[in-house]
Amino acid sequence: MQDHYNNDIHPAPSDRQVFRPEISDTSDRQTAGRSRRQRPFDRFLPYLLLALLLLIGLGAGIGVGYRIWGYEAPYTVNLKAVETPDWIEQKFLRKNIFSRPDVSMREVKNIVIHYVGNPGTSAEANQRYFDSLADQDPEQGGTSSSSHFIVGLEGEVLQCIPVSEISYANAPRNFDTVTIEVCHPDETGKFTDASYNALVKLTAWLCGELELDANDVIRHYDVNGKSCPRYYVDHGDAWKQFLKDVKAALKNQ
Ligand SMILES: [Zn+2]
Repeated sequence: MQDHYNNDIHPAPSDRQVFRPEISDTSDRQTAGRSRRQRPFDRFLPYLLLALLLLIGLGAGIGVGYRIWGYEAPYTVNLKAVETPDWIEQKFLRKNIFSRPDVSMREVKNIVIHYVGNPGTSAEANQRYFDSLADQDPEQGGTSSSSHFIVGLEGEVLQCIPVSEISYANAPRNFDTVTIEVCHPDETGKFTDASYNALVKLTAWLCGELELDANDVIRHYDVNGKSCPRYYVDHGDAWKQFLKDVKAALKNQ
């Protein structure tokens, strides 16, 4: 390529002439000879440069668009390092394909609230149910279901799965959501005061740990239209109040 500078359209300064034998001495000799014979190639050089400039422009345009519309900051929360406070009792499920598939969670974007849908059952009974799914025969298929946390009727909180692993509750968003199931005394799905207060506390704590805010807290209904948590789907105002309570709890943390 250096040889182009020695062609007529780029009159060579004398130092080029001195430099020239050096490159001619190498295996470039043949290439150099060819470019001299194909001088018309130089006519295309401006077009080549133009095409190059267009490519650079296109690349820059895509880059800017990516920053404006598609850029996401790298995820910095270390999910494995989240330390569980003592008011949460850890009762992890056995690892199994039906309820604790041992799949790493790379990022948490939302906290999803559910009701257990089985009136009067305790947090412990629901934890046992999720764990019992491990006894199903993988060859036969079966029920897949689980939750990271369960809030009981008395306000007790059980953790079934570490937040660094996925649960099976929020399809198709299992891969980037944390689940909270809440027990309830009757069919309306309304939470007891004890459950409600524990849920606010748990949700606010999770928001703090996972660098989320109340806007990132959603209902199962918001994921896939399921009537869950029923009372807070039927009563949109009660759901809004819940988010306000989480916001207030976050401020007081
Ligand atoms: Zn649900």
